[in-house]
Amino acid sequence: MKLLIVEDEQKIGDYLRQGLTEAGFVVDLARNGLDGHHLAMTGDYDLVILDIMLPDINGLKILSSLREAGNRVPVLFLTARDTVEDRVTGLEHGADDYLVKPFAFAELLARVRTLLRRGGGPSLDSRLRVADLELDLLKRRATRAGKPIKLTAKEFALLELLMRRKGEVLPRSLIASQVWDMNFDSDTNVIDVAIRRLRVKVDEGFEPRLIHTVRGMGYMLDAPEGSAP
Ligand code: CA
Repeated sequence: MKLLIVEDEQKIGDYLRQGLTEAGFVVDLARNGLDGHHLAMTGDYDLVILDIMLPDINGLKILSSLREAGNRVPVLFLTARDTVEDRVTGLEHGADDYLVKPFAFAELLARVRTLLRRGGGPSLDSRLRVADLELDLLKRRATRAGKPIKLTAKEFALLELLMRRKGEVLPRSLIASQVWDMNFDSDTNVIDVAIRRLRVKVDEGFEPRLIHTVRGMGYMLDAPEGSAP
């Protein structure tokens, strides 16, 4: 899942980016309104965290542009003052939720997850299932045949991507950009190593095997027809 943060205060921006990255999201950070506006309008994000008070284009303007363009991406706005007026204005402009600064990171993360669940189409169910493999996006837990699988944040993000795109061959370049936020030119060995580790956790000792290597093309998660739900 890819998030955009628009925040001009460097400390808060860095803190949010680090925390959300560690939570398994791919994060773009814009440090001013102009960049934020451009990224929000052109990028493909699952959620936008938008500071209202920005030195150039303010957050409300960015929000209006998004909604006028028919973009329904969930928006969580950050406001420095807890005034009713600010909140109402933000929500009137089409924001989905807000947080008043200062806030605890755990609170932000909870809001983000709620919005992602609420916000989306069919791909945003809180549970993904392929055969007897299940991923609970809300509780951040994976199980196979009812047995818990311990995953790192990156492994979770990788498995989530593979399960969402079940039956599709995913090129390494796509996996790199969606899970690691890096270009294909970077060290793609990272992906092969992560897949190998994930495969041990997900497939070893279970039938059928779900994670497949498609030689020269990439990786795919799939179950044969008729495997147990
Ligand atoms: Ca600000």
